[in-house]
Amino acid sequence: MKLDLHVHLQEATNVAIPDARLVRKLIDVVKSRGLDGIAVTEHSDTSYGYRIKEIVDREFHGEIIVIPGQEKPCGPHHIVELHLPCGCIFRFVAHPGRLLPPYPEALDGIQGVEVQNGSWVVDEESVRRFAEERGLILLCNSDAHTLTDIGRHQNVIDLSTLCTAAHGSS
Ligand SMILES: [Zn+2]
Repeated sequence: MKLDLHVHLQEATNVAIPDARLVRKLIDVVKSRGLDGIAVTEHSDTSYGYRIKEIVDREFHGEIIVIPGQEKPCGPHHIVELHLPCGCIFRFVAHPGRLLPPYPEALDGIQGVEVQNGSWVVDEESVRRFAEERGLILLCNSDAHTLTDIGRHQNVIDLSTLCTAAHGSS
């Protein structure tokens, strides 16, 4: 399954209250990028993602996968939370920059880390070392703030893999 797990859709569309027309457009964009789905991760707000998911599922028979989530500041880092269909919450570090020990406490209790981010430079070597030490899932996400950028980075990963990781650590 191909998923872009970090998309700021409200910022990308400037639409405060999404409707079926906007969602139709989004579905077409997502499919044109070869994606099966996206996570909608507004800043400190899960309601936007839930609203998008509701419209996709109700009006468009779940044509794409939408994972509602949010991006939250946490110490020196930004953590993205994904509300998975299984009920688990998967947490990953967004655009970690360069990660060197001692690692801040903000990085405890996460299951993934971005090794590529469409909007920020990430030091791949230090991030891979950190992920290996902790058994974290490496992610490549667009961090899209425009519709054009959706899917610029994507992951080949199953929801069950995310769920198992989230479940195992909660
Ligand atoms: Zn972001």
